[in-house]
Amino acid sequence: MEKEELYLGSHVDLKAPNYYLGTVNDAISYGANTFMFYTGAPQNTFRKPLSELKIAEGRALAKAKGFDESKLIVHAPYIINAANYANPELYEMSINTIVNEMRRTAAFGVKIMVLHPGSHVGLGAENGIKALAKALDVALRSDGTDVKIAIETMAGKGHEIGVNFKEIKSIIDQVPNNDRLGVCLDTCHISDAGYDLTDFDSVIKEFDEIIGLDRLLVVHVNDSKNPMGAHKDRHENIGYGYLGFEVLNKIVHHPLLNGIPKILETPYYNEKAPYKQEIEMLRSGKYVDNWRD
Ligand code: FE
Ligand code: FE
Ligand code: ZN
Repeated sequence: MEKEELYLGSHVDLKAPNYYLGTVNDAISYGANTFMFYTGAPQNTFRKPLSELKIAEGRALAKAKGFDESKLIVHAPYIINAANYANPELYEMSINTIVNEMRRTAAFGVKIMVLHPGSHVGLGAENGIKALAKALDVALRSDGTDVKIAIETMAGKGHEIGVNFKEIKSIIDQVPNNDRLGVCLDTCHISDAGYDLTDFDSVIKEFDEIIGLDRLLVVHVNDSKNPMGAHKDRHENIGYGYLGFEVLNKIVHHPLLNGIPKILETPYYNEKAPYKQEIEMLRSGKYVDNWRD
């Protein structure tokens, strides 16, 4: 059997005054060997100039601590909606933001950017998929980087697209030059979308048959506040939701996902980041009852 290569980390803030240096320091304090960050606020496209973000210092520290940059992740701001032709201004802004974020991602030495596929706003999933594919085609022709885009699987709230493997596959297929397109599998989202994660072997088999495992670039490891099929998208701490520790632990250590970065996006509790404890439990495979107390 192949030796287990587990890259496990969490979402980490990038904020004043230390910016990327602070991001890397926080990841180290969580005991992580990978992490994910936004290059600015998640909910808007205002971005500080790269020169102010202490990128060189952060990268030097990450290198000294043994982080592998090919396993790090940037998340694009979620205000982007490139799945809606009907609003040309937002559509164009979304394409520009995708390109800009890919270039920013590259400036950190990061190779993978997660993108929410967006909402068809009532115009039908097929139209949304077509619009997004066109936007991705434009972005991938003009960004000039080697950054890959990981399209995230969504929970199916509102008019989201990308709510099952067939829709994701259809997005990828409609982009002619798609070798830099991949997938981010979010455990909370796919459970909310209706996939039964208690039988993860079947889920990952289906993923492989429809999309192909070689497209899987990152896994978001989250428990869910809601039962399978709820279409809500509300993350919960590991062991406190409907998925539970055993199901998530099996996914984290699944041999078919070996070497793929796994990122926690679970909520703070009592204003505390939960990541150090969650990483420890998932790495060791040993759950600590009532660990939030
Ligand atoms: Fe996301
Ligand atoms: Fe996610
Ligand atoms: Zn989510």
